[in-house]
Amino acid sequence: MEMRFIPALISPPETIDGAWWFIFKGHAMLVMEDERGIAVPWVKNPTELGLLPLRERYLGTLDGRHCFCGSVAEDLSPPVGMALRGLRYLYRRVDETIHSIAMRAVHLIEWDRTVRYCSRCGTAMAHGADLNAKECPDCGFISFPRISPAVIVLVEREGKALLARGARFNQEIYSVLAGFVEPGETLEETVEREIEEEVGIQVANIRYFGSQPWPFPDSLMIAFIAEYAGGEIRIDKTEIVDAGWFDVDSLPQIPGSISIARKLIDWFVEKESISGGTNKTPEGH
Ligand SMILES: [Zn+2]
Repeated sequence: MEMRFIPALISPPETIDGAWWFIFKGHAMLVMEDERGIAVPWVKNPTELGLLPLRERYLGTLDGRHCFCGSVAEDLSPPVGMALRGLRYLYRRVDETIHSIAMRAVHLIEWDRTVRYCSRCGTAMAHGADLNAKECPDCGFISFPRISPAVIVLVEREGKALLARGARFNQEIYSVLAGFVEPGETLEETVEREIEEEVGIQVANIRYFGSQPWPFPDSLMIAFIAEYAGGEIRIDKTEIVDAGWFDVDSLPQIPGSISIARKLIDWFVEKESISGGTNKTPEGH
């Protein structure tokens, strides 16, 4: 049965028997790991594990049990029986709900760590009345956790998908195109601009596909499907190394299953495998 997480801001006043602790060193999470598998630590206080978090924060309840997150010093070595694991590694190695809480936790921890002073007057920030915000005690400036929206797009052209190898990928992975939303843009305008900038083509019939928090460090990926409408591929070499149209039978190496990029490509493969089969028969005879 799927576990239910209810986010909350104010930590419980009562003495608690234990809580799930999502503790990070940088972007890696401290997990209990042995031959039986991987688990998030369940303790009353992280000091029981020999850990002294620099920052702590309440997250809410998971099936009625409290969840906290925290971060530890950069020079900490994991205690015996624990390991430091990245969230990409932990995907599908821990429960999906646990993983999404960890994604939320790392985003909030990173915000806590990086937004320490008022960006208007330089005074140290305090927690605001809305605990999901920080407030400057001097000038009243309020700062919410930063969320940076980015679009990610699968462009289709006659049964083929546009995939590109980014200059920043260090492997031979081809993926769909993505880019950050700029001030004043609608999401559709971002889709049109990014595709034009990166590969020089025009798109039409932009449709929403889904979204995914991507806290590395603070993105929200908003996925779309679009249709090719004109132009020839002309790559922006600062961002893209190679780009092309791929059909389901000739796909290059594609991203891992954690990403919404992969969900877009999987959707395309499934759709083409079904329609490709029915379409091919009349054409082939
Ligand atoms: Zn201020």
